[in-house]
Amino acid sequence: MNIEIEDLVKEHIKALSPKQALQKGDRAIRLDKGELPYPPSPEVIQAIADAASEINRYPDILGGTLRGALAEYTDTKAERIIMGNGSDDLIELIVKVFVKPGEEVLLPMPTFFVYEFATKVVGGVPVWVKRTENFGLDVEAIIEKVTPKTKVLFLANPNNPTANLVSRDSILKVLNHLNCIVVVDECYYEFCQETVSDLIEAYPNLIVLRSLSKSFGLAGIRLGYGMANQTIIDYLYRAAQLFPVNKLALVAANAALKDKAYVYANIEKISQEKTNLARELETLGLIVYPSATNFLFVETKPLGVTSQDLVQSLREKNIFVADFGLKQGLEAYYFRTAVGTPEENQVLLAQLKKVNYLLSDR
Ligand SMILES: *Cc1c(COP(=O)(O)O)cnc(C)c1O
Repeated sequence: MNIEIEDLVKEHIKALSPKQALQKGDRAIRLDKGELPYPPSPEVIQAIADAASEINRYPDILGGTLRGALAEYTDTKAERIIMGNGSDDLIELIVKVFVKPGEEVLLPMPTFFVYEFATKVVGGVPVWVKRTENFGLDVEAIIEKVTPKTKVLFLANPNNPTANLVSRDSILKVLNHLNCIVVVDECYYEFCQETVSDLIEAYPNLIVLRSLSKSFGLAGIRLGYGMANQTIIDYLYRAAQLFPVNKLALVAANAALKDKAYVYANIEKISQEKTNLARELETLGLIVYPSATNFLFVETKPLGVTSQDLVQSLREKNIFVADFGLKQGLEAYYFRTAVGTPEENQVLLAQLKKVNYLLSDR
């Protein structure tokens, strides 16, 4: 029998790109994924070890005690919280619940690539919205792009990759003008302490997303959560998997929330390093955008070198940063680097100095 799988796959799935593993050496300096360079707290490691002997059992439906712990942490009610396998999982769940094929999702560009990806997976249409100069939110431009087909707006605050914050006033303006679902992704909340989670009762269309991947340093455990009015949470849970969050993630997150001192000590270290790294990058002639996150968005244009060339030359030295040149409407001159340990940042800077020297020698 001759079966053509190609004929069976949905057209909009065929249009997606294959995923590629990036080869990184053992001692690679990995600054491309925005991760925290520090290991999790010893309490978290112990909690995972303790729970490991019980993983023959399924995890609790609705996240067990973690839901209450997150409610307490965020000063909201447990019924207003949904947990997912990373906030990526919740982004997918949101479009699954609200976006039919052909319907539109508003994305101020550039922004976090998962919004576009998740939209395309369900056959939705990403509608790109320009930003103001220096990547601010253009609220008028967003309002202009609304059509009867608009179902969701994704706003990363602070934004990834540009690292900047949107003001509460701008978000309020958006909420007061849009009837669609408004997702404010506060993945970097602990670094900036800016939130609109207090608005979920007043605005029934608002969903606030958070993650333990960045500030809590738990990217590998995959734990994200969302806060919204109970009606939204109920529908999201109906469409969610029965066990989206695994047992080890539940205990790890619970332990991490109990050891906030560790998290805030890491954040303090990163903030200091961020200031140092930004200053040194500027000394090299690069433009560094203001950052409310644990990463820096950097422009290479003043050096007369494309980010692609720069990122490639770093990669050859086993240093990984993320190239944004020519992506999502950007010019050819942007990259994003996480703030690493002081040692990692020094290696990055030393290599950039060499590149700079070679180029100015040309
Ligand atoms: C890193 C990042 C995420 C990913 O979160 P996970 O919980 O690891 O899935 C979500 N949103 C933004 C804006 C991010 O930068």
